[in-house]
Amino acid sequence: MPLKAIIDCRTVIGPELSQEAWNELAVRHRHGLAVTMACCGAPGHLRTSGRGLRHFYHATGSGCHYAEESKEHLAIKYLVYRASVAEGWETQVECPSPDRSWIADVSATKGGRTVVFEVQVSPISPAELAERDAHYQNAGIESYWLLADFPNRSRVLAAWYDTSLAGDGGPRAEDVFSIDRSLFSTGPENHLFSAKSIRSAGLRVKDQSLFTTNNPEIPIAVWVREVLNGNYLRYLEETRAAISYRRRLLILAAPLLERLHAFYPSIRDRTFHKRLASLARTRQPAQSEPEFRKRSAAIASEIDWIEKEYRSMMAEESGLFFWKSTGKKSAMRPVFRLESEKKVRQLEERIAVIDRWESSFNAAMRTLEQDGSDLHPVDPDQE
Ligand SMILES: [Zn+2]
Repeated sequence: MPLKAIIDCRTVIGPELSQEAWNELAVRHRHGLAVTMACCGAPGHLRTSGRGLRHFYHATGSGCHYAEESKEHLAIKYLVYRASVAEGWETQVECPSPDRSWIADVSATKGGRTVVFEVQVSPISPAELAERDAHYQNAGIESYWLLADFPNRSRVLAAWYDTSLAGDGGPRAEDVFSIDRSLFSTGPENHLFSAKSIRSAGLRVKDQSLFTTNNPEIPIAVWVREVLNGNYLRYLEETRAAISYRRRLLILAAPLLERLHAFYPSIRDRTFHKRLASLARTRQPAQSEPEFRKRSAAIASEIDWIEKEYRSMMAEESGLFFWKSTGKKSAMRPVFRLESEKKVRQLEERIAVIDRWESSFNAAMRTLEQDGSDLHPVDPDQE
């Protein structure tokens, strides 16, 4: 239901009139003064809602979709309008585009910037939302949606968001070991903005209030002010930038964490000591006992060193990981601090140490194995 109509060739916004002026219009209308709906040009009438909100309604059978708007929609549209006026913006309701391909519920202009608000009380499919917002995006207009059906659409929006994240070619956070996936989880307004650049907030129709991921209740007037002063857009942009930064770090860290995960069982199961012990059992009798003992003791102390090195890297003191309860009793798991490129570089350096150690361990084991019958290799130059 519109707040606006054309009467006597003038645009009239119902709630803007004094009670006297409204009453006078009503009387003149009863005596034949035409009321033309601004949305579609159909004939209309004046009415005051149960909450005292003055508005216009279509004469029956107009076929205009504005005729189907609910009184909740009307009330919220008016709150947005009033808040925008209170902020000193030049504000219009039910404002059509030059080609009339869309009509914005509320449009506000100040200093060359135009912001439009769309109140969506009835359910809208995400695809239709994207299509309608594309009109604004194509026209370069900064649009904001108050969306009542966030909770019902959130799975679709989350899927859009996941798809948009996957667009960078990196792995999904849940597929990478030691990553706190909550770093990438956020609410529907951020899903919509990250995936489709659509600006929105959740709408609680009955309470006439809004909500976002971090704020369960925002009065409409407060939110409109934050939109108009640019803070809300900054919030959306900063959230999107923070998530995409974390994605870049994730892509850098994923192969390192993969490597670490592959290395961990060797520490857990004491695999290196076991390999050394099994070699001692199966060695050739020809090997010189004191030399073998000396060498295997040296390798054993190298194994102790890497085990200590691994534990020191995984300890919270290293600053690379923190330990988090898995939910099972007393079970903890390490979570990499995906905070900065510097942290990822530090992890990389420590993993390079592990890599170098492991190849030198393998080489030492091979030498020990092969030296069974040939403890002192002949220097070819002396032959
Ligand atoms: Zn209409």
